[in-house]
Amino acid sequence: MENPLKEKISEMKDWLVEIRRKIHMYPELGFEETETSKLVSEWLERFGFQVKKGWAKTGVVGLLEGRGPGKTVAIRADMDGLPLEEANPVPYVSRIKGKMHACGHDAHVAILLGVARFFSSIRNQVGGNIKWIFQPAEEGGGGGRVMVEEGVLENPKVDAIFGAHVFPFLPTGKVGIYEREGLAATDRFTIHILGKGGHAAAPHVSKDPILAAGHLITQIHAIVSRNINPLDSAVVTIGKVSGGTTFNIIPDEVELLGTVRSLNPEVREELKVRIEQVIQGVVCSLGMDYRLDYRRGYPVLVNDPEMSRLVASACSEGIGEKNVEVLKPSMGGEDFAYYLERCPGSFFRLGCRNEEKGIVHPYHSSLFNIDEEVLPFGVEMFVRIINRYLGLNKS
Ligand SMILES: [Zn+2]
Ligand SMILES: [Zn+2]
Repeated sequence: MENPLKEKISEMKDWLVEIRRKIHMYPELGFEETETSKLVSEWLERFGFQVKKGWAKTGVVGLLEGRGPGKTVAIRADMDGLPLEEANPVPYVSRIKGKMHACGHDAHVAILLGVARFFSSIRNQVGGNIKWIFQPAEEGGGGGRVMVEEGVLENPKVDAIFGAHVFPFLPTGKVGIYEREGLAATDRFTIHILGKGGHAAAPHVSKDPILAAGHLITQIHAIVSRNINPLDSAVVTIGKVSGGTTFNIIPDEVELLGTVRSLNPEVREELKVRIEQVIQGVVCSLGMDYRLDYRRGYPVLVNDPEMSRLVASACSEGIGEKNVEVLKPSMGGEDFAYYLERCPGSFFRLGCRNEEKGIVHPYHSSLFNIDEEVLPFGVEMFVRIINRYLGLNKS
């Protein structure tokens, strides 16, 4: 096996596992990652980097200034866990009731610290700058947006940014890339259908919002199949319906909650317009009124194709082309999209599935886990990408 870089990084595997498990045992929710953030900044300081704390409340940024002028490359990890009770029978199971690292952000933090440790050991060979971004609140809180607004991509200005997510749908040892669109825009809505309650036996003197909801649910699903170009991607899902109290009462109102996903800004806008038109049409036809609260979530995550090719080629150098897969976009969301709106870069996947070890569960499951071999593997992939981008020595 001719891979000296892999061998060098494998020496830090125990340390990586220890860090990941420590974070895993004490998960913290979005914008509350104080202990995780402290652990991160202590290591970055120990590595001798410039460290700035307090970004977006708990975010941390480390900077390694290389010799002489050069480009600045950034890598990013998210730090938050989820409000979920862990069911894994492992010694490092979450010690915090009702909180769990069920998306692998513990691994992301450990991997980025591994990359930091690697470059701290060869810092005098680095030409250019490397910035480490540890952000809070990826799970819906948009910590990435806050970091970007606070100027994390400036001083020094970031020329390219890379981020990765562990991926339970690929075995460990494989990398997945997206050429352009990687993840969807994630908007959401709350609809209130405002009817007029009364006795169930006298519907003619009421306005039944439950009937309106029934029509609306079928109509709203026709938007994707009848208004959106079949070659574009879109999802409209109603995830919650609530209204009424018992069998013989027509309620005053019904509430519907849903999510809207799309992979380009035009489709995103069209969905928003059509959803409101459909609500208006259905509800008016039944003589009722409505209230709509439509909120934009994360934008579409769009990679720079050149940066995605760089990721594919740099990773292939270590693991062979056959272990780098081009993935179809996912209709999930990622707040890494905010960095990519301002700066070229690429978001990719690190396989963390291992059937033999029973590590097969999806994200946000109480049984989600990672094959810890992904930790040194992830470090190696980031090191290769950074080396390639900054034009450092090939190893
Ligand atoms: Zn997640
Ligand atoms: Zn995640």
